[in-house]
Amino acid sequence: TITRTPVIAGNWKMYKTVEEAKEFLRALPLSTLPDDVEVVICAPYLCLPSLAEQAQGSKVGIGAQNVHWETEGAYTGEISIPMLKAVGVQYVIIGHSERRAYFGETDETVNKKVKAAVKTGLIPIICVGETLEERENEQTKAVVERQVRAAIDGLSSDQVKKAIIAYEPVWAIGTGKASTAEDAGEVISFIRKTVAAGYDWQIANEVRIQYGGSVKPENIASFLEQTDIDGALVGGASLKPDSFMALVLAA
Ligand code: PEP
Repeated sequence: TITRTPVIAGNWKMYKTVEEAKEFLRALPLSTLPDDVEVVICAPYLCLPSLAEQAQGSKVGIGAQNVHWETEGAYTGEISIPMLKAVGVQYVIIGHSERRAYFGETDETVNKKVKAAVKTGLIPIICVGETLEERENEQTKAVVERQVRAAIDGLSSDQVKKAIIAYEPVWAIGTGKASTAEDAGEVISFIRKTVAAGYDWQIANEVRIQYGGSVKPENIASFLEQTDIDGALVGGASLKPDSFMALVLAA
C-alpha cells in the first residue's frame, strides 16, 4: 500500500513584513500540529531567517517562493540555494504561475532551478497548470505534461521521489473559483502517470502532488478525498493563522 504524507503549504506571496510573519507563527499552536501532515510556510525572503529560527524544533517547515540556480555570482537582486539553506530554509516554490506570467520564468529556468534545488536537498514545490484559454482549447493535459516533463528532466529517481508537484490551474488562483475536486483529481492522476512514464510507477507513487487554486477551509476536504491529491498549496487562505490551521487540521 502507498502512504504519502499530505503537504499543506502556504504561499504568502508578497504579503507580510518580518514583524507580521513573526506574529503569525506566534499565533499558530505549534505544539498541537498533527504528526501525519507536513506543514510548510513559503514566505518572502526577508521573513525567512526569523521564521526558520522560530519554527525550529516544530513541525513547521519553511520555504522560499523562488531561488536562483547558481550558487553565487554577478546576479543582482537574486538569492541562491546556499543562502537559503544557511538560514534553515527546507523548501522552495519553483515555477509559480505568477513568476511564469510576470517574471519571465520558463520551462527551462524552472528545470535549472529544480535541478539545483534537489542536488542540495532543498525540496522543490514545482508548480504547473494551464491558463483559462488553454483549458478552453482542451490543452490542459498537453500543457501540464509539457511542464512536468520539462521541470523534472534530468532528475534521478531518488531526486524526483522527494520533489513535490503542485497542480495549480491558473484560472483558479486567487479568483475564488476553485477547480472541482473531480477535475483536479483527474489532472493530478494524469500528472502521476506522466511521472511514471519518465521513471516507473513505484517512483511516481511516492511523489506528493498537491492541488492549488482558491483552496479554503470550506472546500479542502473535497480535494483531499481524491486518492491522488496529497495536500494543497494555498495562497489567500494561508495568510491568517486561523484559516491556515483549519486547512492543516483538515488534512
Ligand atoms: C497560490 O498562490 O499558489 C494559490 C493557490 O493562491 P490562492 O489559494 O489564493 O488561489
